[in-house]
Amino acid sequence: MSNLSPTPITVAYGDGIGPEIMEATLRILDAAGAKLDIQTIEIGEKVFERGNSSGIAPEAWDSLLRTRVFLKAPITTPLGGGVKSLNVTVRKTLGLYANVRPCVSYAPYVETKHPGMDLVMVRENEEDLYAGVEYRQTEDVCQAVKLISRPGCERIVRYAFEYALDHNRKQVTCITKDNIMKLTDGLFHRVFNEIAKEYPQIKNDHLIVDIGAARIADTPEMFDVIVTLNLYGDIISDIAAQVAGSVGLAGSANVGDTCSMFEAIHGSAPMIAGQNIANPSGLLNGAIMMLVHIHQPEIATRVHNAWLATLESGIHTADIYKPGSSKQKVGTKEFADAVIANLGQEPKHLARVEYAKREERPITTHEYTHTPQKKEMVGFDVFLDHKAKDATALGATLSKIESDTLQLSMISNRGTKVWPNGMPETFCTNEWRCRFLSKVKAGVVKHQDLLDLLRKIEAIGFDYVKIESLCNFDGIAGYSLSQGE
Ligand code: NAD
Repeated sequence: MSNLSPTPITVAYGDGIGPEIMEATLRILDAAGAKLDIQTIEIGEKVFERGNSSGIAPEAWDSLLRTRVFLKAPITTPLGGGVKSLNVTVRKTLGLYANVRPCVSYAPYVETKHPGMDLVMVRENEEDLYAGVEYRQTEDVCQAVKLISRPGCERIVRYAFEYALDHNRKQVTCITKDNIMKLTDGLFHRVFNEIAKEYPQIKNDHLIVDIGAARIADTPEMFDVIVTLNLYGDIISDIAAQVAGSVGLAGSANVGDTCSMFEAIHGSAPMIAGQNIANPSGLLNGAIMMLVHIHQPEIATRVHNAWLATLESGIHTADIYKPGSSKQKVGTKEFADAVIANLGQEPKHLARVEYAKREERPITTHEYTHTPQKKEMVGFDVFLDHKAKDATALGATLSKIESDTLQLSMISNRGTKVWPNGMPETFCTNEWRCRFLSKVKAGVVKHQDLLDLLRKIEAIGFDYVKIESLCNFDGIAGYSLSQGE
C-alpha cells in the first residue's frame, strides 16, 4: 500500500452541511492511509450566486476531466426558474449513467423495523423526466418530456446484472409503471426481459412502481438488486435509505464508462448546517465506494470496518441516537474522531466487510441491439392552444379541413378523447391534441402533407403549439391511444 502513488481526485465541499461532513470524511480517509492527491473545486450556491446558472465554473470541468473521480458533498439547488440542477448536469455531462445506492440496515445498533434489509438500488441516471425537456405550451398547460432510449435501458439493465454477478447477488428486480406508460416504461421492461435471459444464474422479476415502493417500505428484506428508471429510483432509494435507519447513512456511486462521482444520497440539510450535528456516514460510505473504485480496497475495508465498529459501540450522531440502545450522542467531528480511533478494529456482531481488488475491466463499448425496422408515417398529432371549451365545435371545424391525405380522427384533452363522442363531464383545458390520420394507406403520408395541413389550420385562425409525427414501426403503432379512443 505504501508504494502506491496518490490517486488524483476532485473534491467539492458543497453547501449546507457539506463542508462539515466532507471535512470529517477526508480526516477519516487520511487517518486510514488513503493515498489521495486532492484537487478542490467550488460548486453550488456561491457559483449560482455569481450568475452561473449551472452551479459549476468552467475551470472546475478541467479538474473533473483530469482526475475523472469526483467526491462531492451535497449542494443546495436554488428554487425557481433560471438554474439547472448541478447534480443532473454533472451526471449527464460526464456520462454517469448508473447510480448505485446500497441500503443496508445495521440492527440492533441503528433502529429499524427491518433488521434483515440489504438491497442495492441501481438507478438509471441520465434519462426519463430528468432529461429536463419542459415546455409551457399554453397559459394553463406545461409539459415535461419523459425520454427513454433503448441504448439507455440496455446499459443500465446490463449494469445491474453485471453488478449482481460481481457482488454475489442472487436476484434483480425491475421496477416500472408500464401498465400506464406502455411505450417508455414498456421499453425499459422489455429490454429487462431480453437482457435477463443472458444471466440465467440470476433470478429476475418485475414490479409496478406503486406496489414496488409499498413493498420496499413494508418488506425491504425481499429485495436484492433493484433496477429502475431515474425518477422512481430517486424516490424509492430515499424510502429504502430511510427504512434502513436514516437518510444520513447511505452513500451513492454515479458510474460512467470513463468518470465516476461519489456522494451521500441526502441533500445539504440547510436547517442543521454549521451546528456540528450532521451524520457524515452517507458521504463516508460514498467515499468507501470511491476507494474500491480507485483500487485502494484495503483502505476501504479498514474504514468500513472501523465505521461498523463505531456504530456497534453506540457512539451515534443525533439522527440515529436512541436513548437506551445508543451510548453517546456525538457531533459530526466527534463521530469522525471515534471512527479514527477504531481504525484497525472490526465489528463484533455486524458482518465485517472485506473488499477485494476490483477487477480491471476493459472499458466496454456497448453494442446496442438495433434491429432495423420499417418506419411508416401514418399521420400527425397537432396540439392547439385554443381557449373555447367546446370539443364538438372544434371537431366540426377541424374535420372540414380539406386534404387529399389526412383527416381528423380524434381530439383529446389531457390524454382523454373528447371528440368524436366525448362526454360532457370530461374537464378540458386550453390545450387540445388533434389527431390527423392518413385517409390512404400507411406510408403514403409525407411531411409536405403536414405543411399543407398547418397552413390550413393557421388560415382558420388556430394556434398550433406542438406537432408529433405518428409512425408505425414494422406495422406497430409508435404512439399511444387516448383514454377512450
Ligand atoms: P435533505 O436530504 O437535505 O434533508 C432531508 C432531511 O434529512 C432533513 O430533515 C435533514 O435534516 C435530514 N438529513 C439529511 N442529511 C442528514 C445528515 N447527514 N445527518 C442528519 N440528518 C440529515 O433534503 P432536502 O431538505 O429536501 O433538501 C435540501 C437541499 O439539498 C435542497 O436544496 C436540495 O435541492 C438539495 N439536495 C441535494 C442533493 C445532492 O447534492 N446530491 C440531493 C438531494 C437534495
